[in-house]
Amino acid sequence: MATVPALSYSGFHAYTECPLRWKYLYIDRMPTAPRGYFSFGRSVHSALEEFVKPLTKLSTLGAVPSGGRAQRTLGEFDESPAPAETPPEPATPTLLAVEELLEVYRRVWVSEGYLSPEDEKRNFDLGADLLRRFHALFVSAPPRPVAVEQELDASVDGIKIHGILDRIDETPKGGLEVLDYKTSKQLSWQEARTSDQLTLYQLLVEKNYPRPVEALTLYHVRTLSPLRTPPRGTEEVEDLSTRLGEVADGIRTEVYDPRPGPYCNRCDFRAICPEWKEIPERERERIRELVERYEELKRRGEGLRREMEGVASELHAASEELGVHRLTSRGSTIYRKKETRWVFPPEQVLPVLQEAGLLPRVARLDGDQLSRLLSDPKVPASVRRSLRGQGRRQAEWSLRYEGPTGESDVSE
Ligand code: SF4
Repeated sequence: MATVPALSYSGFHAYTECPLRWKYLYIDRMPTAPRGYFSFGRSVHSALEEFVKPLTKLSTLGAVPSGGRAQRTLGEFDESPAPAETPPEPATPTLLAVEELLEVYRRVWVSEGYLSPEDEKRNFDLGADLLRRFHALFVSAPPRPVAVEQELDASVDGIKIHGILDRIDETPKGGLEVLDYKTSKQLSWQEARTSDQLTLYQLLVEKNYPRPVEALTLYHVRTLSPLRTPPRGTEEVEDLSTRLGEVADGIRTEVYDPRPGPYCNRCDFRAICPEWKEIPERERERIRELVERYEELKRRGEGLRREMEGVASELHAASEELGVHRLTSRGSTIYRKKETRWVFPPEQVLPVLQEAGLLPRVARLDGDQLSRLLSDPKVPASVRRSLRGQGRRQAEWSLRYEGPTGESDVSE
């Protein structure tokens, strides 16, 4: 049995994608090739760290100690609602001027992995522009950071986890917002909503701070957009804990099978990976034929699926025109059934749930989860009214087919 190291998000993600790649990285410690996008991200992160750090001194939760380790434990906070004495005002920190920030950026710039000097210059200029805009926004509306680049450790169901968190802010209500900077080109709200990295960070913060996590945010640096999402509910936290347990079990029992996928294209270990060995000459033709046959069947399946959708639309239309919901032919019958579902715009229901303290009750902001709250007598009537006001009922029709011998299926 092998010892399981503390799992960081990147380690967890690497093992989940491909256990063999995890072994190459974390056991064999094989070097990886530098890449421009990693260097760019590291440079911007380092500059932001130096820029934001002085503001942590303003936080009512205390300053970040040097060394960057988890600086607070449960006992270190004053949890009483009103302190007996007014604490001394912290010294006002000095923020770097924009030119000073750019000087830091030049100093911390990582120049490896770019395709050419022109590529590096283009990225450097892009980063400088982002930092100028970040500076202007930050100075006009400063947040209340509690910690930056903070290393936290914790244990979940006996599994050690570890993370270095870009930033933790204090919210207006005195809770915590966990932020992770992203310098990628695109970032969606859905990514923020389902990010395992943010769920892991929530666990780390909850185990190290006594204040509640009120928001999990992927901060898209290119557009200065905080993609803010509610903290994960019990279901999502348990789901991640289960997957952490599976990864830990795999490492403990030394299961390092290759798991090829689209990500192989950016893997540094293809030259030594057994999945990328040459197929013997005598087998190539047979494999080529099988792959092509598979492709052809998939194409035909897709064509049939589209044709079915077209026929289903015509059946729906005919049913509407005729005013009947039962269409028959030689012993086969198609029944048309209507169901209504609640639909809620997430950005509108989020404040209602937050205000009512109901966020932990929903794993996702979808109609099914939220409509359960509408019929729950324990939810105050005023909150249910408010939720109802944000949602709308949407009709969905489905077709149920019953064949002459009783076989049946349902389609949308
Ligand atoms: S090439 Fe693919 S299968 Fe092989 S180690 Fe890398 S990710 Fe895994």
